[in-house]
Amino acid sequence: MLVGGGHAHVEVLRQFAASPLTGWRITLLTREAMSPYSGMLPGVIAGLYRAEQALIDIRALAARAGAEALIDRATGIDLEAKRVHRAGGESRPFDLLSLDTGATPDTAGVPGAAAHVLALKPIDALLPRLRALLESPPARLGVVGAGAAGVEVALALRARLPQSRVTLVAGVAGVLAGFPDRLRARATAALTERRIAIHQGEDVAEVVRDGLVFPRAAPLALDAVLWATGAAAPAWLGETGLARDRAGFLRVDACLQAIGQDRIFAAGDCAGFDPQPLPKAGVVAVRQGPVLARNLRAAAEGRALRPYRPQSDWLVLLSLGDRRAIGTRNGVVVGGRAAWWLKDWIDRRFMARYQGA
Ligand SMILES: Cc1cc2nc3c(=O)[nH]c(=O)nc-3n(C[C@H](O)[C@H](O)[C@H](O)COP(=O)(O)OP(=O)(O)OC[C@H]3O[C@@H](n4cnc5c(N)ncnc54)[C@H](O)[C@@H]3O)c2cc1C
Repeated sequence: MLVGGGHAHVEVLRQFAASPLTGWRITLLTREAMSPYSGMLPGVIAGLYRAEQALIDIRALAARAGAEALIDRATGIDLEAKRVHRAGGESRPFDLLSLDTGATPDTAGVPGAAAHVLALKPIDALLPRLRALLESPPARLGVVGAGAAGVEVALALRARLPQSRVTLVAGVAGVLAGFPDRLRARATAALTERRIAIHQGEDVAEVVRDGLVFPRAAPLALDAVLWATGAAAPAWLGETGLARDRAGFLRVDACLQAIGQDRIFAAGDCAGFDPQPLPKAGVVAVRQGPVLARNLRAAAEGRALRPYRPQSDWLVLLSLGDRRAIGTRNGVVVGGRAAWWLKDWIDRRFMARYQGA
């Protein structure tokens, strides 16, 4: 049974479609019939893509893999009875289980955040609210969190809503913390050139109905706040009895197998990779997909598993919202229209693998 239609599971389904897993009944339990691809979300916001271009019809993909698709939310796992509970129907049994359910926004430590912000994750819940926001643009918009997603979303909003005042709240960490200094400088320049105000030095202490409150700095009045801070573990995973890391994500070994479980696997944002810390990034889930597919097949057929070996570095490309991008790999920083062309090509090629007949 596959739970969650994330980036790793779409690859599992693609591979099972190409080469069926004989003798097994496959069930996909996922919340949404259309699985969003985050890499193109900023392009959707900027108006460079239609929403459908960034959505994978996971029901159709499951059908090609011979899998039954249940569009529903998993709410728990009974490890002893080997059943997955769901919100809208009877629990389902499994012999082999794989989880790729992503993460949730990290709003827990900030009072008012859960009530007042528009969280970027989960993306399926974001899209309808985003549509409403784009239709009646607020005068003052804030994006909290200046990692890759926050920077891209602020730039996309600027491109789409030229009349709105956009503020990127970068907090103590600043813009693109953890990325090479040259990329950080380039991103800061791109934000400033596009009239995006950067608020940094202090993290948000509280979100109120009309803006943000800081420990010392003056409050920031805003009409809408998008929340793009780090990922947190979905609460329901805590009640499964599966081993979790300090942040609450499911601990997996090098083969993506849940610690202490030989019939349960996890990948993508919902997994905490025991051998080394990994970023919560789509690129990790994408890279884990083929390993997960191979190991699920091996587990089903009683063969040996193989480890996932993370790359030491990968290409990061950030859309600037206007058919330009900046990016980095191995410390080299690039930017401009060619970088956007490359990002667009990579993203379209990714989607074509899963959207096709
Ligand atoms: C705006 C934005 C831009 C980003 N851009 C990039 C980028 O350019 N590059 C990059 O590497 N990363 C990017 N990221 C990060 C990226 O989105 C995540 O790391 C990635 O989506 C994780 O993939 P995943 O497979 O773990 O889960 P997800 O893609 O989150 O998919 C989870 C799936 O599980 C389903 N699901 C969730 N809970 C349940 C449940 N209880 N029961 C059943 N189904 C469930 C969901 O409906 C969804 O189909 C971006 C994030 C955002 C918000």
